[in-house]
Amino acid sequence: MKNTHTKVAIGLIIIAVTLSVFTAGCFESSSTTSKIGVNEISPTKTNTQLESVNAKAPKAKNVIIFIGDGMGINQEYLANRYSEEVYGKNLTFPYMTNNIGLITTSSLGNDVTDSAAAAVALFSGYKTKNRMLNMLPNGTIPKKIISEIFKEEGKSVGIVTTTRITHATPAAMYAHIRDRGEEDIIALQMLKFEPTVALGGGAEYFLPENEGGKRKDGINLFEEFKKKGYVVVRNREELLKVDPSKTDKLLGIFSYSHMAYEIDRENIPEYQNQPSLAEMTEKALEILSKNPKGFILMVEGGRIDHGYHTHDIKAAVVDVKAFDDAIKVALEFQKKHPDTLIIVTADHETGGLSIGRGTCSYADSSSGNVKSYKENVKAVKNIKCSVKYLVNKIIEENLSKEEAVKLIEKMWGTKLTDDEKQLLFKYPLDSKITDKTILDYYPRVNEYLSNWGEYALTKIESDRARVYWTAYGHTQNPVAVWAKGPGDVLFRGYYDNTDIYTKILEASKGEYHNTSCTECTGTCITAPVAAATH
Ligand SMILES: [Zn+2]
Repeated sequence: MKNTHTKVAIGLIIIAVTLSVFTAGCFESSSTTSKIGVNEISPTKTNTQLESVNAKAPKAKNVIIFIGDGMGINQEYLANRYSEEVYGKNLTFPYMTNNIGLITTSSLGNDVTDSAAAAVALFSGYKTKNRMLNMLPNGTIPKKIISEIFKEEGKSVGIVTTTRITHATPAAMYAHIRDRGEEDIIALQMLKFEPTVALGGGAEYFLPENEGGKRKDGINLFEEFKKKGYVVVRNREELLKVDPSKTDKLLGIFSYSHMAYEIDRENIPEYQNQPSLAEMTEKALEILSKNPKGFILMVEGGRIDHGYHTHDIKAAVVDVKAFDDAIKVALEFQKKHPDTLIIVTADHETGGLSIGRGTCSYADSSSGNVKSYKENVKAVKNIKCSVKYLVNKIIEENLSKEEAVKLIEKMWGTKLTDDEKQLLFKYPLDSKITDKTILDYYPRVNEYLSNWGEYALTKIESDRARVYWTAYGHTQNPVAVWAKGPGDVLFRGYYDNTDIYTKILEASKGEYHNTSCTECTGTCITAPVAAATH
């Protein structure tokens, strides 16, 4: 008994000492830049004395929030493995900070969220039903969108995405609507909201039907934006030419529907007139940073979700890489503007992705070969286009089986095996998926894949890379948060997606314990994650 008591007492002393350091101290993984010796912020000082050291919490004048749509932890990990194995270096953002958190993602009445409800949670701080944008099912609006609050404070608002600019995630920065599908109305709401910068895809909702668009009201929204003083650009070249010193408001719409997957943008000539996510981010920052009061910029890697929805690993990992490149632009910006908070997170996980399985190799009973379960994502290294593009091409050009195989082998840079060819031609490439075994396991497969050809090729990709899926839709898996800049410590821990909203507001007002080292005059103490909350 005595022994136990002693242990408990020692434990309590350790906890007390540790907490008193945490309450007041600033901590980071490195303590090399301290100006005051460790002893000067010793745990023996009182809390009041210690807090005064850190009374001034730096405010996040600028906030850049990156959303990897559908980018669960495994999606990030797979892309990071790919980067490591193919480019020989890791992605940047997973290592950019020690201020990492985990968030739950459920929506109102549904454990599995869609991108609309998830974005409302992140940008407006409350739960609503799937498909709804910035309102409750009874039509009321309980809280302002973070972008509305920033705008009222005289700050600029930027929205950058690779999806249609009227798609769920970007729309959640400016729209209030019952159904995310009403994108023609959402486009009108964007005109009314007037973001300083809006860059993405989706010209179809900006053009009237008689000009090739989907608008039934006859309005050409590009003209309406111009009337409001916007510079309007429609391709990469025009975007790169935009002179920020002469541009106060910028609208860039670079595709009819979503922008291309990065893998297609890089390799297929018809998509090379679209800018990269990094280029859009850079231009947005040049314009937004003109506002002395600051800004909020939302950057979405929107097609990451589509890559994982369709199980097209190559398209997905290359889009995560493009997302990482955009974050690098923000990190460079932050070096010159340290009053900028960068947050990287996701709205939900897509696909129920698992990477590798089992803990050891096993002997394949039929061949006697030793077959590993270990992830082999470098197997998709030579693939030069998305599966969607490839299958569309085969169907559009009405290729024979031989010609189809030839095209696939050319675009994939590898031969198809006999088994793979057998799977590919089991059903007509352009047919819906009717295979009972597949439908039993993935009842919604036809919502996400256009045809058998897409199923077969993405199955071959997954098998080669040894990654596994539980769904074609979203899952309720939690997702990660990375934060760097003023207030970044707030984002540590395990919490709900709605808390991101509150944390951004606290960071922007400097209403938090300054446990960050960015402006700390005291000693940086290496410490575990626990004490960031208060
Ligand atoms: Zn999705």
